[in-house]
Amino acid sequence: MNLVLIELGDDVSRQAITLARALGGPVHALLVGSADAAADLAVDTVHVASDARLTGYAPDAVARIAVEIADRIGATAIVAAGTERGNDLVARIAADTGEPFAAGCIAVEPGAPLTLTRVRWGGSLLEEARLHVARRALLTAAPHAVATDPPGAPGAVEHFTPTLDDADLVVMVRDRVAAASGGVSLADADVVVTGGRGVGSAEGFAVIEELAGLLGGAVGCSRAVTMAGWRSHNDQVGQTGTKISPEIYIPCGVSGATQHIAGCKGAKRILAINKDPEAPIMTTADYAVIGDLHEVVPAISAELRRRRGG
Ligand SMILES: Cc1cc2nc3c(=O)[nH]c(=O)nc-3n(C[C@H](O)[C@H](O)[C@H](O)COP(=O)(O)OP(=O)(O)OC[C@H]3O[C@@H](n4cnc5c(N)ncnc54)[C@H](O)[C@@H]3O)c2cc1C
Repeated sequence: MNLVLIELGDDVSRQAITLARALGGPVHALLVGSADAAADLAVDTVHVASDARLTGYAPDAVARIAVEIADRIGATAIVAAGTERGNDLVARIAADTGEPFAAGCIAVEPGAPLTLTRVRWGGSLLEEARLHVARRALLTAAPHAVATDPPGAPGAVEHFTPTLDDADLVVMVRDRVAAASGGVSLADADVVVTGGRGVGSAEGFAVIEELAGLLGGAVGCSRAVTMAGWRSHNDQVGQTGTKISPEIYIPCGVSGATQHIAGCKGAKRILAINKDPEAPIMTTADYAVIGDLHEVVPAISAELRRRRGG
Protein backbone atom coordinates (compact mmCIF):
# COMPACT_ATOMS: atom_id res chain seq x y z
CA MET A 1 0.00 0.00 0.00
CA ASN A 2 1.42 3.39 -1.01
CA LEU A 3 0.26 6.90 -0.12
CA VAL A 4 0.73 9.86 -2.48
CA LEU A 5 0.58 13.42 -1.11
CA ILE A 6 -1.26 15.57 -3.64
CA GLU A 7 -0.22 19.19 -4.13
CA LEU A 8 -3.14 21.10 -5.60
CA GLY A 9 -2.58 22.58 -9.01
CA ASP A 10 0.71 20.76 -9.55
CA ASP A 11 1.11 18.16 -12.29
CA VAL A 12 4.17 16.68 -10.57
CA SER A 13 1.79 15.08 -8.05
CA ARG A 14 0.45 12.94 -10.90
CA GLN A 15 4.05 11.96 -11.67
CA ALA A 16 4.35 10.95 -8.02
CA ILE A 17 1.33 8.68 -8.52
CA THR A 18 3.11 6.99 -11.45
CA LEU A 19 6.18 6.45 -9.24
CA ALA A 20 4.03 5.05 -6.42
CA ARG A 21 2.39 2.62 -8.84
CA ALA A 22 5.82 1.25 -9.81
CA LEU A 23 6.27 0.17 -6.20
CA GLY A 24 3.36 -2.26 -6.65
CA GLY A 25 0.18 -2.60 -4.58
CA PRO A 26 -2.77 -0.24 -4.14
CA VAL A 27 -2.18 3.51 -4.38
CA HIS A 28 -4.03 5.91 -2.10
CA ALA A 29 -3.89 9.71 -2.30
CA LEU A 30 -4.12 12.41 0.38
CA LEU A 31 -5.69 15.81 -0.19
CA VAL A 32 -5.63 18.38 2.59
CA GLY A 33 -8.23 21.12 2.91
CA SER A 34 -10.01 20.67 -0.41
CA ALA A 35 -11.58 17.78 -2.27
CA ASP A 36 -11.49 19.73 -5.56
CA ALA A 37 -8.91 17.53 -7.26
CA ALA A 38 -10.29 14.24 -5.92
CA ALA A 39 -12.66 13.50 -8.78
CA ASP A 40 -9.97 12.92 -11.39
CA LEU A 41 -7.30 11.08 -9.42
CA ALA A 42 -7.23 7.52 -10.75
CA VAL A 43 -6.15 5.91 -7.48
CA ASP A 44 -7.77 3.28 -5.30
CA THR A 45 -8.87 5.71 -2.57
CA VAL A 46 -8.58 9.48 -2.04
CA HIS A 47 -8.48 10.59 1.62
CA VAL A 48 -9.58 14.19 2.14
CA ALA A 49 -8.51 15.79 5.45
CA SER A 50 -10.41 18.86 6.68
CA ASP A 51 -9.93 21.04 9.76
CA ALA A 52 -11.37 24.55 10.06
CA ARG A 53 -8.09 25.78 11.56
CA LEU A 54 -6.21 24.96 8.33
CA THR A 55 -6.78 28.34 6.67
CA GLY A 56 -3.42 28.22 4.85
CA TYR A 57 -0.65 25.74 4.08
CA ALA A 58 0.76 24.46 7.38
CA PRO A 59 3.70 22.11 6.73
CA ASP A 60 3.88 20.53 10.21
CA ALA A 61 0.14 19.87 10.17
CA VAL A 62 0.21 18.32 6.69
CA ALA A 63 3.20 16.15 7.68
CA ARG A 64 1.30 15.03 10.79
CA ILE A 65 -1.83 14.26 8.72
CA ALA A 66 0.21 12.27 6.18
CA VAL A 67 1.70 10.09 8.93
CA GLU A 68 -1.72 9.63 10.55
CA ILE A 69 -3.32 8.35 7.35
CA ALA A 70 -0.24 6.34 6.33
CA ASP A 71 -0.33 4.58 9.71
CA ARG A 72 -4.04 3.94 9.40
CA ILE A 73 -3.85 2.34 5.94
CA GLY A 74 -0.52 0.60 6.64
CA ALA A 75 1.36 2.43 3.87
CA THR A 76 4.84 1.09 3.18
CA ALA A 77 5.73 4.21 1.14
CA ILE A 78 4.81 7.88 1.16
CA VAL A 79 5.47 9.54 -2.20
CA ALA A 80 5.21 13.26 -3.02
CA ALA A 81 6.06 15.62 -5.86
CA GLY A 82 9.71 16.67 -5.86
CA THR A 83 8.73 20.32 -5.71
CA GLU A 84 10.04 22.71 -3.08
CA ARG A 85 6.90 22.07 -1.03
CA GLY A 86 6.90 18.29 -1.56
CA ASN A 87 10.55 17.94 -0.56
CA ASP A 88 10.03 20.18 2.46
CA LEU A 89 7.02 18.16 3.56
CA VAL A 90 8.65 14.76 3.19
CA ALA A 91 11.82 16.01 4.92
CA ARG A 92 9.64 16.95 7.91
CA ILE A 93 8.07 13.48 7.92
CA ALA A 94 11.55 11.92 7.78
CA ALA A 95 12.76 14.09 10.66
CA ASP A 96 9.71 13.23 12.75
CA THR A 97 9.63 9.49 12.08
CA GLY A 98 13.28 8.65 11.39
CA GLU A 99 12.27 6.89 8.17
CA PRO A 100 14.61 7.06 5.15
CA PHE A 101 13.96 9.72 2.51
CA ALA A 102 15.17 9.67 -1.11
CA ALA A 103 14.44 12.85 -3.07
CA GLY A 104 14.38 13.38 -6.83
CA CYS A 105 13.50 9.81 -7.90
CA ILE A 106 12.74 9.03 -11.54
CA ALA A 107 12.37 5.25 -11.26
CA VAL A 108 11.89 2.64 -8.55
CA GLU A 109 12.17 -1.12 -8.50
CA PRO A 110 10.39 -2.86 -5.66
CA GLY A 111 12.43 -5.18 -3.46
CA ALA A 112 14.41 -5.20 -0.26
CA PRO A 113 16.30 -2.96 -0.55
CA LEU A 114 14.40 -0.72 -2.98
CA THR A 115 16.39 0.18 -6.08
CA LEU A 116 16.02 3.83 -7.03
CA THR A 117 17.22 6.03 -9.84
CA ARG A 118 17.65 9.60 -8.64
CA VAL A 119 18.52 12.88 -10.30
CA ARG A 120 21.56 14.42 -8.60
CA TRP A 121 23.66 17.55 -8.98
CA GLY A 122 20.92 19.61 -10.54
CA GLY A 123 20.33 17.10 -13.31
CA SER A 124 24.00 16.59 -14.17
CA LEU A 125 24.00 12.90 -13.23
CA LEU A 126 21.70 9.99 -12.46
CA GLU A 127 22.42 7.91 -9.38
CA GLU A 128 21.34 4.32 -8.84
CA ALA A 129 20.72 3.93 -5.13
CA ARG A 130 19.55 1.21 -2.75
CA LEU A 131 17.17 2.25 -0.01
CA HIS A 132 17.03 -0.04 3.02
CA VAL A 133 13.59 0.36 4.51
CA ALA A 134 12.56 -0.99 7.90
CA ARG A 135 8.95 0.16 7.81
CA ARG A 136 8.21 2.85 5.26
CA ALA A 137 10.05 4.51 2.36
CA LEU A 138 9.75 8.26 1.84
CA LEU A 139 10.22 9.34 -1.79
CA THR A 140 9.75 12.39 -3.99
CA ALA A 141 9.45 12.28 -7.78
CA ALA A 142 11.87 14.48 -9.75
CA PRO A 143 9.71 17.03 -11.60
CA HIS A 144 8.97 16.27 -15.26
CA ALA A 145 11.13 13.15 -15.40
CA VAL A 146 8.37 10.59 -14.78
CA ALA A 147 5.27 10.04 -16.94
CA THR A 148 2.18 11.89 -15.73
CA ASP A 149 -0.56 9.60 -14.44
CA PRO A 150 -3.67 10.13 -16.63
CA PRO A 151 -6.82 11.49 -14.97
CA GLY A 152 -9.58 9.05 -14.07
CA ALA A 153 -12.13 8.53 -11.33
CA PRO A 154 -10.95 7.32 -7.91
CA GLY A 155 -12.21 4.08 -6.43
CA ALA A 156 -13.48 5.87 -3.30
CA VAL A 157 -13.29 9.29 -1.63
CA GLU A 158 -13.15 9.27 2.18
CA HIS A 159 -13.36 12.42 4.30
CA PHE A 160 -11.82 12.59 7.76
CA THR A 161 -10.92 15.08 10.50
CA PRO A 162 -7.26 14.72 11.41
CA THR A 163 -5.88 14.81 14.94
CA LEU A 164 -3.91 18.05 15.18
CA ASP A 165 -2.34 19.94 18.08
CA ASP A 166 -2.14 23.73 18.13
CA ALA A 167 1.64 23.29 17.85
CA ASP A 168 1.15 21.75 14.38
CA LEU A 169 -0.49 25.00 13.25
CA VAL A 170 2.15 27.47 14.41
CA VAL A 171 3.85 27.54 11.00
CA MET A 172 1.18 28.46 8.47
CA VAL A 173 0.92 30.59 5.35
CA ARG A 174 -1.05 33.63 6.60
CA ASP A 175 -0.78 35.93 3.60
CA ARG A 176 0.54 36.04 0.06
CA VAL A 177 2.30 39.04 -1.41
CA ALA A 178 2.90 39.11 -5.17
CA ALA A 179 6.56 39.55 -6.06
CA ALA A 180 7.41 42.94 -7.50
CA SER A 181 8.37 42.19 -11.08
CA GLY A 182 10.06 44.33 -13.66
CA GLY A 183 7.79 42.79 -16.30
CA VAL A 184 10.08 40.14 -17.84
CA SER A 185 10.04 36.83 -16.02
CA LEU A 186 13.39 35.18 -15.37
CA ALA A 187 12.22 31.78 -16.58
CA ASP A 188 10.93 33.12 -19.92
CA ALA A 189 13.36 35.96 -20.68
CA ASP A 190 15.34 35.90 -23.94
CA VAL A 191 18.14 37.84 -22.24
CA VAL A 192 19.24 37.36 -18.64
CA VAL A 193 21.92 39.52 -17.04
CA THR A 194 23.06 37.96 -13.78
CA GLY A 195 25.15 39.42 -11.02
CA GLY A 196 27.28 37.31 -8.72
CA ARG A 197 29.29 38.01 -5.59
CA GLY A 198 31.62 40.09 -7.75
CA VAL A 199 28.92 42.80 -7.90
CA GLY A 200 29.90 43.56 -4.31
CA SER A 201 26.64 44.91 -2.83
CA ALA A 202 22.88 45.29 -3.32
CA GLU A 203 23.47 48.81 -4.64
CA GLY A 204 26.03 47.44 -7.10
CA PHE A 205 23.14 45.78 -8.97
CA ALA A 206 22.17 49.16 -10.46
CA VAL A 207 24.55 48.52 -13.37
CA ILE A 208 23.17 44.99 -13.87
CA GLU A 209 19.58 46.33 -13.85
CA GLU A 210 20.50 49.06 -16.29
CA LEU A 211 21.99 46.62 -18.81
CA ALA A 212 19.09 44.17 -18.43
CA GLY A 213 16.66 47.03 -18.99
CA LEU A 214 18.44 48.21 -22.15
CA LEU A 215 18.37 44.64 -23.53
CA GLY A 216 14.73 44.05 -22.53
CA GLY A 217 15.92 41.22 -20.30
CA ALA A 218 15.57 39.99 -16.73
CA VAL A 219 18.00 40.29 -13.82
CA GLY A 220 19.32 37.12 -12.25
CA CYS A 221 21.72 36.45 -9.41
CA SER A 222 23.81 33.68 -7.90
CA ARG A 223 23.18 32.02 -4.57
CA ALA A 224 26.09 33.91 -3.01
CA VAL A 225 24.03 37.02 -3.70
CA THR A 226 20.78 35.73 -2.19
CA MET A 227 22.73 34.41 0.82
CA ALA A 228 24.16 37.92 1.29
CA GLY A 229 20.62 39.33 1.18
CA TRP A 230 21.38 41.55 -1.82
CA ARG A 231 18.55 40.10 -3.97
CA SER A 232 15.52 37.92 -3.35
CA HIS A 233 15.55 34.17 -3.99
CA ASN A 234 13.10 34.79 -6.88
CA ASP A 235 16.08 36.10 -8.86
CA GLN A 236 18.39 33.16 -8.17
CA VAL A 237 19.57 31.11 -11.13
CA GLY A 238 20.73 27.56 -10.49
CA GLN A 239 20.08 24.17 -9.03
CA THR A 240 18.14 25.62 -6.11
CA GLY A 241 16.87 28.60 -8.06
CA THR A 242 15.25 29.12 -11.45
CA LYS A 243 16.30 27.09 -14.50
CA ILE A 244 16.60 29.40 -17.49
CA SER A 245 17.11 28.98 -21.23
CA PRO A 246 17.55 32.47 -22.71
CA GLU A 247 19.00 33.28 -26.14
CA ILE A 248 21.88 35.02 -24.36
CA TYR A 249 23.01 34.73 -20.76
CA ILE A 250 25.36 37.36 -19.31
CA PRO A 251 26.81 36.32 -15.93
CA CYS A 252 28.79 39.18 -14.37
CA GLY A 253 31.07 38.45 -11.43
CA VAL A 254 29.81 34.84 -11.26
CA SER A 255 32.44 32.11 -10.80
CA GLY A 256 30.38 29.37 -12.48
CA ALA A 257 29.94 26.75 -9.74
CA THR A 258 28.30 23.51 -10.93
CA GLN A 259 25.15 24.39 -8.98
CA HIS A 260 24.92 27.68 -10.86
CA ILE A 261 25.60 26.09 -14.26
CA ALA A 262 22.81 23.57 -13.52
CA GLY A 263 20.38 26.48 -13.86
CA CYS A 264 21.79 28.16 -16.97
CA LYS A 265 23.09 25.33 -19.13
CA GLY A 266 19.96 25.70 -21.30
CA ALA A 267 21.16 29.13 -22.48
CA LYS A 268 21.91 29.32 -26.22
CA ARG A 269 24.93 31.61 -25.71
CA ILE A 270 26.85 32.68 -22.63
CA LEU A 271 28.82 35.92 -22.40
CA ALA A 272 30.79 35.92 -19.16
CA ILE A 273 32.18 39.08 -17.59
CA ASN A 274 34.74 38.27 -14.94
CA LYS A 275 38.07 39.68 -13.84
CA ASP A 276 39.54 36.18 -13.40
CA PRO A 277 40.49 34.46 -16.67
CA GLU A 278 40.74 31.16 -14.75
CA ALA A 279 37.18 31.32 -13.34
CA PRO A 280 35.27 28.05 -14.03
CA ILE A 281 32.58 29.98 -15.93
CA MET A 282 35.14 30.41 -18.74
CA THR A 283 34.88 26.70 -19.63
CA THR A 284 31.13 27.10 -20.26
CA ALA A 285 31.11 30.59 -21.79
CA ASP A 286 30.92 31.14 -25.56
CA TYR A 287 32.31 34.67 -25.17
CA ALA A 288 34.13 36.35 -22.31
CA VAL A 289 35.23 39.81 -21.31
CA ILE A 290 38.04 39.68 -18.77
CA GLY A 291 37.78 42.80 -16.64
CA ASP A 292 36.14 44.59 -13.77
CA LEU A 293 32.36 44.37 -14.22
CA HIS A 294 31.98 47.82 -12.68
CA GLU A 295 33.82 49.19 -15.72
CA VAL A 296 32.75 46.68 -18.41
CA VAL A 297 28.97 46.61 -17.75
CA PRO A 298 28.46 50.43 -17.70
CA ALA A 299 30.63 50.65 -20.85
CA ILE A 300 28.34 48.18 -22.68
CA SER A 301 25.26 50.10 -21.51
CA ALA A 302 26.78 53.41 -22.61
CA GLU A 303 27.59 51.97 -26.05
CA LEU A 304 24.03 50.59 -26.40
CA ARG A 305 22.59 54.00 -25.51
CA ARG A 306 24.99 55.76 -27.90
CA ARG A 307 24.01 53.48 -30.80
CA ARG A 308 20.35 54.05 -30.05
CA GLY A 309 21.00 57.79 -30.06
CA GLY A 310 19.99 58.22 -26.41
C1 LIG B 1 23.25 22.31 -2.50
C2 LIG B 1 23.75 23.57 -3.13
C3 LIG B 1 22.91 24.24 -4.00
C4 LIG B 1 23.35 25.42 -4.60
N1 LIG B 1 22.53 26.07 -5.48
C5 LIG B 1 22.96 27.15 -6.11
C6 LIG B 1 22.16 27.83 -7.07
O1 LIG B 1 21.01 27.46 -7.31
N2 LIG B 1 22.68 28.91 -7.70
C7 LIG B 1 23.92 29.37 -7.46
O2 LIG B 1 24.34 30.39 -8.05
N3 LIG B 1 24.72 28.76 -6.54
C8 LIG B 1 24.26 27.68 -5.87
N4 LIG B 1 25.04 27.10 -4.92
C9 LIG B 1 26.28 27.82 -4.49
C10 LIG B 1 27.45 27.60 -5.43
O3 LIG B 1 28.17 26.46 -5.05
C11 LIG B 1 28.41 28.82 -5.35
O4 LIG B 1 28.82 29.01 -4.01
C12 LIG B 1 27.79 30.12 -5.85
O5 LIG B 1 27.21 29.93 -7.13
C13 LIG B 1 28.90 31.17 -5.95
O6 LIG B 1 28.32 32.39 -6.31
P1 LIG B 1 29.18 33.47 -7.11
O7 LIG B 1 29.67 32.87 -8.39
O8 LIG B 1 28.37 34.71 -7.18
O9 LIG B 1 30.37 33.78 -6.10
P2 LIG B 1 31.92 33.37 -6.14
O10 LIG B 1 32.10 31.91 -6.34
O11 LIG B 1 32.54 34.00 -4.94
O12 LIG B 1 32.47 34.07 -7.46
C14 LIG B 1 32.58 35.45 -7.58
C15 LIG B 1 33.21 35.71 -8.95
O13 LIG B 1 33.21 37.10 -9.18
C16 LIG B 1 34.44 37.45 -9.80
N5 LIG B 1 34.64 38.87 -9.50
C17 LIG B 1 34.87 39.44 -8.28
N6 LIG B 1 34.92 40.77 -8.40
C18 LIG B 1 34.72 41.05 -9.71
C19 LIG B 1 34.64 42.26 -10.45
N7 LIG B 1 34.75 43.46 -9.86
N8 LIG B 1 34.44 42.18 -11.77
C20 LIG B 1 34.31 40.97 -12.41
N9 LIG B 1 34.37 39.80 -11.75
C21 LIG B 1 34.55 39.84 -10.41
C22 LIG B 1 35.47 36.52 -9.18
O14 LIG B 1 36.58 36.36 -10.06
C23 LIG B 1 34.66 35.23 -9.07
O15 LIG B 1 34.80 34.43 -10.21
C24 LIG B 1 24.63 25.93 -4.32
C25 LIG B 1 25.46 25.24 -3.44
C26 LIG B 1 25.03 24.08 -2.85
C27 LIG B 1 25.94 23.35 -1.92
